[in-house]
Amino acid sequence: MNNIKNRIDIDLIAKAEALLYESEKIAIIPHSGPDGDAIGSSLALYQYLKKKGKMPKIVSPSAYPVFLNWLPKNSEVMIYTNGKKAAEEYLKSSDLVFIVDHNSFKRSGDLEKILQDLPAKKIMIDHHPEPEQIVDVMFSDTSMCATCELMYEFIEALGDENLIDTHIAECLYTGIVTDTGGLSYNSSNPRTYQIVGDLLARGIDKSKIHSNVYDNFSTDRMKLLGHCLDRGLEVLPEYQTAIITLTKEDLLKFNYKDGDTEGFVNYPLSIQGMLVSVIFIEKEDMVKISFRSKGNVPINAVAAEYFNGGGHMNAAGGRTTDQLKDAIAKFKEVLPAFYKSLNQ
Ligand code: 5GP
Ligand code: MN
Repeated sequence: MNNIKNRIDIDLIAKAEALLYESEKIAIIPHSGPDGDAIGSSLALYQYLKKKGKMPKIVSPSAYPVFLNWLPKNSEVMIYTNGKKAAEEYLKSSDLVFIVDHNSFKRSGDLEKILQDLPAKKIMIDHHPEPEQIVDVMFSDTSMCATCELMYEFIEALGDENLIDTHIAECLYTGIVTDTGGLSYNSSNPRTYQIVGDLLARGIDKSKIHSNVYDNFSTDRMKLLGHCLDRGLEVLPEYQTAIITLTKEDLLKFNYKDGDTEGFVNYPLSIQGMLVSVIFIEKEDMVKISFRSKGNVPINAVAAEYFNGGGHMNAAGGRTTDQLKDAIAKFKEVLPAFYKSLNQ
C-alpha cells in the first residue's frame, strides 16, 4: 500500500516547536459560532497540550450547538460571552495563542479586538482560503478537508503521534466528518482516509460518534426544518439555485436554540439540478447567510463581494444589517450575472 506522507512544512514545525517549548499558558481560540471542526480541533489540541505538560485553555468566542457537548473535555471550554472577565484575564496572561479553524480576527467574534491587541505569540492552524498575516507561525492549508485533518498532521509532525489517544481521536474524527458531509465532499483526499483509518485504529466508536452528532436533535428543530423545506423554500430552476428564508418569528415559533439551523442549507442541494443553495436567517441585529454550492461554483465570491463574508468555494457564509427582504432582493439581483459567469 502507498503510504502518503505528512504534508506539514518542517521549517514551520521547528518554529512552532520553539514557541511551544518556551510557553506554559496557552490559549486556544476557535472561530465564533464554532462548528464540529472548530471545537473538535480545539479539544484535540487542548488534550494534546495537557499531555505535553502545558496549561492550555479553550476560549470560544460564543456558544456552540448541543450536539457537540458530548465531546471529551467539553466542560473545560470557556465561553467568552458567558464570562468575559475570567476569559480576558486568562488571555492577557497567556504566553501563546492558537487561532484555530479561522484565519482572520474578524472571525473571532467578540474577541476580535482583544486578540488583535494581545502581545502573546500566535500560531494559526486553519484550512480556509486567504489567510490574514496575523500570527507568528501560520499553518494554513486549503488542501486539508478539515482543520482536524491538519491538527492530526501537526501533532504527527511534532513527533507525538503516540499521544493521540481515543479521546483525541474522537475529537479529530468528529471534525473531519462534520466538515466533509460525512466524508462525501471532494475536499477529502486519499490521505484523509489514511488518517481516518489511523483514528479508527485508536479505538473510537464511529457509530456512537455519528449517533451523538446526527441523532441528537430536538423535536422543535425537526419541525423548524420541516417549516424551512415547506414554507421557507423557494426554488429558482432557471439559476439552479434554491433559497431558504427564516424570519425571527419562525425562530421564535419553533423555540430556536443555537445550532438548530446547522445543516439546513444543504438540503436543497439534493433537489435534481441544483447547484447553489442559500439560507437567510433573520437574527436580532443582522441577517446571517449561509451559502453552499456544488462542483466548480465559487459561491464564496458572492459571500465576499456582497455579504461581508467568505469561506470555501462550496461552503461560505456572510452577514448583513440590511432588512431580510432587502438582503434576499440583493442576492436575486446579483444571481443572474453570477450564474452567467459560471458558463463562461
Ligand atoms: P456556515 O455557513 O456554516 O456558517 O459557514 C460555512 C463556511 O464559510 C465555513 O467554513 C466558515 O468558516 C465560512 N464562513 C462563514 N461565515 C464567514 C465569514 O463571515 N467570513 C469568512 N471569511 N468565512 C465565513
Ligand atoms: Mn473547518
